[in-house]
Amino acid sequence: MQRAEQRSRPRMVATLFWPYAGVVSAIGVLACGLLIAAHPAVPAGDPLFWLLAGLVLAGELLPIDVPRRDGFDRVTVSTAFAFAILLLFGLLPAVAAYAAASAVADVVARLNPFKVLFNAAQYALALFAAAAAMALAGDAAPVATIADGLGAVLAGGAAFLVVNHVLAGAAAALLQDEPPLRYLAADFGFQALTAGFVLALAPLVVAAAEASMALVPLCLVPAVAIYTGAREATRHAHQASHDALTGLPNRLLLHERLGRALAAAALDHHQVVLMIVDLDEFKEVNDTLGHAHGDRLLEGVAGRLRAALGETDLIARLGGDEFAVLPAGHVGAEDGQRLAGRLVAALEQPFEVDGVVLEVRASVGVACFPEHGRDADELLRRADVALYCAKAAQHPVALYSAAQDHHTVDRLMLAGQLRRGIDAGEITLEYQPKFPLGGGRPTGVEALARWTHPALGRIGPDGFIALAEQSGHINRLTEEVLRMAIAQSAGWRRDGLELRMSVNLSPRSLLDPHLPQLIRDLLGAHGVHPQGLQLEITESRAVPTGRVAAAVLEELRTMGVGLAIDDFGTGFSSLVQLQRLPVDEIKIDRSFVANMEQSTGDAGIVRSTIDLARNLGLLVTAEGVESDEVRRQLADMGCELAQGYGLCRPLPADRCFQAVLECAPALRAAV
Ligand code: C2E
Ligand code: CA
Ligand code: CA
Repeated sequence: MQRAEQRSRPRMVATLFWPYAGVVSAIGVLACGLLIAAHPAVPAGDPLFWLLAGLVLAGELLPIDVPRRDGFDRVTVSTAFAFAILLLFGLLPAVAAYAAASAVADVVARLNPFKVLFNAAQYALALFAAAAAMALAGDAAPVATIADGLGAVLAGGAAFLVVNHVLAGAAAALLQDEPPLRYLAADFGFQALTAGFVLALAPLVVAAAEASMALVPLCLVPAVAIYTGAREATRHAHQASHDALTGLPNRLLLHERLGRALAAAALDHHQVVLMIVDLDEFKEVNDTLGHAHGDRLLEGVAGRLRAALGETDLIARLGGDEFAVLPAGHVGAEDGQRLAGRLVAALEQPFEVDGVVLEVRASVGVACFPEHGRDADELLRRADVALYCAKAAQHPVALYSAAQDHHTVDRLMLAGQLRRGIDAGEITLEYQPKFPLGGGRPTGVEALARWTHPALGRIGPDGFIALAEQSGHINRLTEEVLRMAIAQSAGWRRDGLELRMSVNLSPRSLLDPHLPQLIRDLLGAHGVHPQGLQLEITESRAVPTGRVAAAVLEELRTMGVGLAIDDFGTGFSSLVQLQRLPVDEIKIDRSFVANMEQSTGDAGIVRSTIDLARNLGLLVTAEGVESDEVRRQLADMGCELAQGYGLCRPLPADRCFQAVLECAPALRAAV
């Protein structure tokens, strides 16, 4: 029926369980001693006894694990046959058969010897209670005929149920640190139902035995029916509450456990921590290697996270590449963050998936009860906000902070609206001309994205590019920008204006293996030569180094599309990038250009960058040219191209067209 081990998830410090189990075991042993001393009849030569004892053992050895509030409950059909022995042969044979079968099954399952003893004692005491109840009801075991003794049998069955439930339930509650009474009350319905079913078989077993011993094995049929039915129900229940891929609990189960953990914490005034773990670039793995690899990777990640946690900590898969962790015990914010750090570290070693080595980084958002949320939904949402903040700040772990929340909610909303906005055509481009400092008409323009939000109005790229990157919409945005820019380029050419089009590319777009084909298609559709397009990649952030990025860059280069390093000088590895990337132009960051007049240091940087570019045979553009003086200095230094408010602001296509036609003579005059 129920046992200490299966009904509970053992904990390191279950201090009260051991004294309790000790007392129960001692009473059980004492009661058995007294019983043996009374020399009752022993049916050692009766084959019916051995048959029933064998069925008790079989039932104990083949338990059904029923998923319950915590871990599993174990249901066995052995009770039916043990109770039948009580009815047919009396207390001692029943206790002997049941306790021995329980002990054998527990030893096979390698339980702690103390728990083996406790389980056997608990069964023995439940049978004692049953026998006592029957005696009180006026018909002591063994009964003469089952039909006459039915009232006493019912009383005995009820006593067995109650005592067994109380003894085992109290053990489980103590092991789980839950108040025993509350636990027993919550669990009684389930126990009465399952154990009641099994117990109800016992009179049938006895009736069959009264008719003929040969009929007894037939009682196995309903027993097997109960068994397989419960198995099937268990399987369904497991499927409904677990994730098929990783076998971890799913969102549903997490929600239920979290709710219970919070209810218990509210009563005892302790803390609960909830974490959400999310992989940083999982989508790219799926996109580039396919879903089969993605799935294997997720299994690997689930395994590593599980291994990094304690046995009693809960880890669930929320969906996609998102996992939730609910540590057991009274964990506070600090311990939670430490544990989160350990989870991140557990994923640091690369994974090998079907011969491909994959590096995975994860971010973790941490939220605590009661400070950050009072119920499961709120806590989940706040852990999600913390996760979002971790990603935005590029920190592996972030604790929820109310101050960031407001801002984050806005941003989360905005992220959803961005996707819709891209589809609805709310993204437009402005173009800023690039002027040859040697004079003449602009030879190129840079396309700069703008978002006209229906409620918030115009938003600059600083307000939505990072958002697009974090929310996974960047590839869609890049596609839209490329489409508009290339179409505009073709349009101007039809109007007689040949301008090289520069488009900004997020470093992460290089991880999109479809990018080269997209560009090839767009150029082909609009009849624009690949050399008429340049991609600008900022070097202030890490440019991806993996296989996919290298292949994308190489394909773009062979196609003939130009590549510029944007914001040159702001990254840590400008020279390394220059060597790695198939670049044809450098754009000196405007922070150096803007300060040239005041700072000889900045002027020096600008000068040496120009020299470097020329020595490498690269074009060089100075960004952020606001004054005539700077423009003159740059021209003196040999800089080829300049861009800036002092020359021309970014403008909508038609006005840019006009400006390009009109600006050129003015520039020539000024230089
Ligand atoms: P960026 O590539 O460095 O673009 C130049 C930025 O400097 C533009 O800001 C431009 O308006 C501004 N600017 C130009 N001349 C001057 C000047 O003389 N003084 C000053 N103070 N600023 C000047 P904007 O349009 O706000 O763009 C900001 C950044 O957003 C861009 O920096 C670029 O990195 C990114 N971005 C813009 N459009 C896109 C896009 O379509 N895709 C991606 N991935 N990023 C984009
Ligand atoms: Ca740029
Ligand atoms: Ca720039």
